[in-house]
Amino acid sequence: MAEPRLAVHGGAWNIPDELWPAHREGCAKAHASGMAVLARGGPAVEAVAAAIRVMEDDPTFDAGRGSFLNERGEVELDAGVMEGRRLASGAVLGVSRVKNPIDLAVYIMTQDPHCLYTGEGGQRLAERAGLPLVEPTYHVLERELATHRRIVAGDRAPLAQAWTDRAGDTVGAIALDASGDLAAGNSTGGVLHKAVGRVGDAPLIGSGFYADNERGAVLCTGWGEPIMRSGMAMRGLFLMERHPPKRAAELAVEHLRRRVGGYGGMLLMRPDGVCGAAYNTGRMAFRLEPAGDRPA
Ligand code: ASP
Repeated sequence: MAEPRLAVHGGAWNIPDELWPAHREGCAKAHASGMAVLARGGPAVEAVAAAIRVMEDDPTFDAGRGSFLNERGEVELDAGVMEGRRLASGAVLGVSRVKNPIDLAVYIMTQDPHCLYTGEGGQRLAERAGLPLVEPTYHVLERELATHRRIVAGDRAPLAQAWTDRAGDTVGAIALDASGDLAAGNSTGGVLHKAVGRVGDAPLIGSGFYADNERGAVLCTGWGEPIMRSGMAMRGLFLMERHPPKRAAELAVEHLRRRVGGYGGMLLMRPDGVCGAAYNTGRMAFRLEPAGDRPA
């Protein structure tokens, strides 16, 4: 029997002091929700989805309700999930009517022969699956509309940091369950004022997340284009062959900055549940309890 472990993140950027308590609290609630699944013997995938659902519903984060808007003032939501026993994965890109995109990703992984769906097809699948659908405006907060209007009116200030150290509050979770199975999942609204159809690393298998019982589980967050180009998730896992999780995450983040000028963060979990985190932004919201960020 493995000791169940769960780690969650709520994005890596220069999270200002006034937003920090909400990020910490949101991560704590998500963590508690995922741990409750593991404590009753539930599978890692279910724990990951439970944690992510809490953060998708929490307007603090750039996932589900409260997500960043694209250049047309709409949400386009991405999510991906993977389980480490069979290397099964499901992901969805650019949906706006699915209440919890992580649930659709899990559905694709567990019920569908394909791995990756985009907008319309993903939404039709969600309908067929009976997953809760909402009006696209459900996810759109007045806060984000106000930012959108400012940008459209020519105020570039909100974008000033968007392509450097300000990505978003993408959320994710990695878990180890009592059977020794690993899982990883991410959910995001992407980056501020993104082009219509733009997709980042978060829902891409091996780029923003991965889980393999033989290697570990990993999540990336931050500026998605450099993360994709550095192959960051797989790089982190391979670095764990030679380094403890925290050091492997640090090296992956260093590579991101040095080779492709990227900003972001990483969570890693070894198959024995030992976790590590690293980031090169001002802050990263994450929680690695119960054992904390144990020296690995
Ligand atoms: N990586 C995400 C993206 O580029 C954003 C984030 O992690 O906050 O879409």
